[in-house]
Amino acid sequence: MNIPENDTIVSIASPIGTGAIIIVRMSGPSAAEILSRIFKGKSPMPSHTMLYGHIEDTEGNILDEVMCCCMYGPKSYTKEDIAEIYCHGGHAVVLRLMDLLIKCGARLAEPGEFTKRAFINGRIDLSQAEAVMELISAKSDMARRAVLRKLHGGLSRRINNFRDRLLGLIANIELSIDYPEHEEEAKNLELIYDEGLNLHVEIEKLLKTKTIGDRIKSGIPTVIAGRPNVGKSSLLNAILQEDRAIVSSISGTTRDTLTETLSLKGIPISLTDTAGIREAAGELEQLGIERTKESIDTAELTLFVIDASVPLRQEDYAVADLLRGRPKIIVYNKCDLAKTGLAGEINTDASPAVEVSAKTGAGLDSLYKIIEDMFFEGGLSGDEDIITSAGHAHLLTETSNHLSNSLEAIKEGMPEDLISIDLRAAYALLGEVIGEAVGDDILDRIFKEFCVGK
Ligand code: GDP
Repeated sequence: MNIPENDTIVSIASPIGTGAIIIVRMSGPSAAEILSRIFKGKSPMPSHTMLYGHIEDTEGNILDEVMCCCMYGPKSYTKEDIAEIYCHGGHAVVLRLMDLLIKCGARLAEPGEFTKRAFINGRIDLSQAEAVMELISAKSDMARRAVLRKLHGGLSRRINNFRDRLLGLIANIELSIDYPEHEEEAKNLELIYDEGLNLHVEIEKLLKTKTIGDRIKSGIPTVIAGRPNVGKSSLLNAILQEDRAIVSSISGTTRDTLTETLSLKGIPISLTDTAGIREAAGELEQLGIERTKESIDTAELTLFVIDASVPLRQEDYAVADLLRGRPKIIVYNKCDLAKTGLAGEINTDASPAVEVSAKTGAGLDSLYKIIEDMFFEGGLSGDEDIITSAGHAHLLTETSNHLSNSLEAIKEGMPEDLISIDLRAAYALLGEVIGEAVGDDILDRIFKEFCVGK
């Protein structure tokens, strides 16, 4: 049972550290009253209005010059009264302000407690609450858009639709169990089966979006491969636009693997740069080669870099052998130099190819576009519901299993109460996605993952 809390919590809502402005936020029944005691400015404070003034401690000393804003419940993030103070970002100022607020009766918030209150007070459901957390950590524009849709209730609407339909099936089955005399009015089992099957297809379809969800969240696992000196590190740098990898014109000096999650014009990828593949090299280099092979095995995409300004070498063919049949893009690098015109021979399995210059940045946009087309079918419109959480995927898989058990039971002519047990289990599992019938322990765990102040 979740009982609405009746104390007032306080937290720093902006990133910890020194910034120009720091936001301190309170939520709870005394939020506005506590602020009014220490704020010297307009009084009473109107809702949703920025006010200018000073914060004074209990002895009347001015602590800071601030802006502040009250948002009276229920029109606030938590549905409770919220008071925010925008103060100057010095460490000492914020600490004294927090001290003062606690002295006046506020309590330090736990991580995620603001969002937990928003959930408990019914402003958002659990999948939306989780979306808040994902939004905070979204690394690419695509991730942001997918999560924002979830935050606005896209996934919740979908789940509620599934639940309504399941409830319809349960009601029909149970009507014929409890009131056999109404059997006529209840839909016949064949109809229930068909509807159940449609629902099953839709749930499975939603589940499949988890692959895209994972790609969006963690980036497409990508490696850059190619023989030494073709420009792998330079390409990585051009992509990162910072000198993270060591570029050198001495063959075989890029020794380690570096992984970086980044957003290429909004497309999330997780990029690993590897040492070049070269046979008969020193021990350290050998390690790099092993890693390359390992990275290629786990990668969903390889950027196979070729130096298009020189004739192909034996080592290029060796890398090509290693990559045969794997998803890859052939990147003809150094296109700012004169081409030999022969590099195309390496593309024996008709992979997508692009000409770039790591030096000038030419062709990189075309490379990103190819990645987007390969993995996101031309990009996300932002209208799709996408499963981005492992927990949701698990619940939906279980739902799907129960539903298919019940369909099996119908097909085999099992008693109706057996069919109903699985349908009810499926219904309860979907409830967990949106936070109905979720135990306090699970809630606490979910909200603890939030940062303080959210
Ligand atoms: P890696 O061994 O494959 O990582 O290759 P590097 O990135 O270390 O590059 C090898 C050499 O090629 C360096 O001297 C780079 O400056 C040069 N290089 C890389 N990309 C380009 C390019 O697009 N154009 C030109 N002209 N030189 C490049």
